Amino acid sequence: METLKAVCPHCNNTNTIPIEVAKKEAICEACSQALTDTTPVVCDEEGFKKHIDENDMVVLVDFYSPDCAPCNAMAPDFEAAAKNFPLEVRFLKIDTTMTPEIALRYGVNELPTMIAFKNGVELNRFVSALPKAQLEMWAESLIQMDFR
Ligand SMILES: [Zn+2]
Repeated sequence: METLKAVCPHCNNTNTIPIEVAKKEAICEACSQALTDTTPVVCDEEGFKKHIDENDMVVLVDFYSPDCAPCNAMAPDFEAAAKNFPLEVRFLKIDTTMTPEIALRYGVNELPTMIAFKNGVELNRFVSALPKAQLEMWAESLIQMDFR
């Protein structure tokens, strides 16, 4: 049985779910909330590590700051793009004022910066805000990558 590991966007529990049911009724075994929820998750250090290391799916992280105008302008597009990729791409947000050490570790010094990860490894990044259509194209290209 093919399975997918998915970290819960609500409680950070790592779930292993059969691929066949993944899209339909993926419910977290710890908190009973939907794993298919696409609302970008604002992560602390622990949540960030779990999501990038333990998800089988690509994780797209937006490094932002609440007082950054381009970041705030992009936020609705980021959230809207995420809706198209339940259990295919997990969209996260890192508030660089709350967890500056994560931004420092990845050399993020301009906002917004977005970094795509797979199995804890950086795939690529964009250093600028992107409109919804381009975010979707990027996410789509990440799914198509051959990771084997
Ligand atoms: Zn949960």
